[in-house]
Amino acid sequence: MTKSFRTLDDIGDVQGRRVLVREDLNVPLADGRVTDDTRLRATVATVAELADQGAIVLVLAHFGRPKGVPSAELSLAQIVKPYEAVLGRPVRYVDWEGAADAVATMQPGDIGVLENTRFFGGEEKNDPAVVARFAALGELYVNDAFSAAHRAHASTEGLAHALPAFAGRAMEAELDALEKALGKPEHPVAAVVGGAKVSTKLDVLKHLVAKVDHLIIGGGMANTFLAARGVDVGKSLCEHDLTGTAEEILDAADKAGCTVHLPYDVVVAKEFRANPPTRTVNVHEVAADEMILDVGPAAVEALGDVLKTCRTLVWNGPLGAFETAPFDTATVALARTAAALTKEGSLVSVAGGGDTVAALNHAGAGESFTFVSTAGGAFLEWMEGRELPGVAALLRD
Ligand code: ADP
Ligand code: MG
Repeated sequence: MTKSFRTLDDIGDVQGRRVLVREDLNVPLADGRVTDDTRLRATVATVAELADQGAIVLVLAHFGRPKGVPSAELSLAQIVKPYEAVLGRPVRYVDWEGAADAVATMQPGDIGVLENTRFFGGEEKNDPAVVARFAALGELYVNDAFSAAHRAHASTEGLAHALPAFAGRAMEAELDALEKALGKPEHPVAAVVGGAKVSTKLDVLKHLVAKVDHLIIGGGMANTFLAARGVDVGKSLCEHDLTGTAEEILDAADKAGCTVHLPYDVVVAKEFRANPPTRTVNVHEVAADEMILDVGPAAVEALGDVLKTCRTLVWNGPLGAFETAPFDTATVALARTAAALTKEGSLVSVAGGGDTVAALNHAGAGESFTFVSTAGGAFLEWMEGRELPGVAALLRD
């Protein structure tokens, strides 16, 4: 099947050609060591494929927020050794100074990492002069960094108009998974939206009610919805000024034929710490000095039954304050149900969000999901139904 965007399958013969590959190398560093190399590993498929086909691979990436001011602390030179270890191949560091001369000495199959793209102030402004400077180094452009695709920067968007542009393998996998989950999903579709606050996910909720058959609301944001329905949520995290907005979302869901699931039993405590005394109560029985910190077991079981009737699941946000025991219980249980249904082949499950990824891994469920996005901001913007500029630039005309 021809995809709506161009991929490495469309790139043609790359033997001896200089290919600029935008990757996400923005890994956490402590004392010069990479503490989590997930992002580095995600680049291997594309970089190795191109190098094996004889391309001169020039990796472009940002690192931290230098805002146009070069510094040793934010230099990608520090990533070269760990990146070599992950790739299992030599990697050459290419400073911006004299980059063209350095690249001219590279051989087919060689891999270079260019210096931090954000050492140019114009990178984040999508400045044509910066685009031209990058473009002059290569002949083809591959964008493999979905996580940076919500920004129209020189290296994520501008370059796609300056050179023939293609999606890398990681970008392709991410776009395929997202398309299956919300683009053209198999119905019924369920969405789980949890996390701390409604205010950070209003656009996500508004977009989803028009798209999904079941909207499961958990986490702190469920409290605002419960308050909108007249429930006294006690000392719970709750944005009382947004109850009107919550009502609008419930009305919109009603009109769109989307069933909204709010918890009807909850786990409450008077103190927010590990293993305090807790009670499991109906939402109407929360005392004035109690906080709702997790969805209750009866509601979780009912939500599992909802998932059993669904073909597609998209999940962002934990159901409870999962970092603190025992308020991980609902998230862990529902994540395991989703993982089991995915393994059985009855559910396509796609999840994303920083805390969500941590919660699913904590539940031991992440591996069994169809796709788990580590893209953070880009994933949320996609859940809001927005067009991502870095992706739009790869679409076929
Ligand atoms: P993500 O990063 O996956 O998008 P969020 O950042 O929106 O998720 O939300 C995660 C946070 O929500 C977690 O820190 C979790 O402790 C918090 N949270 C979930 N449920 C509650 C609750 N009932 N009360 C307070 N905080 C909660
Ligand atoms: Mg978060």
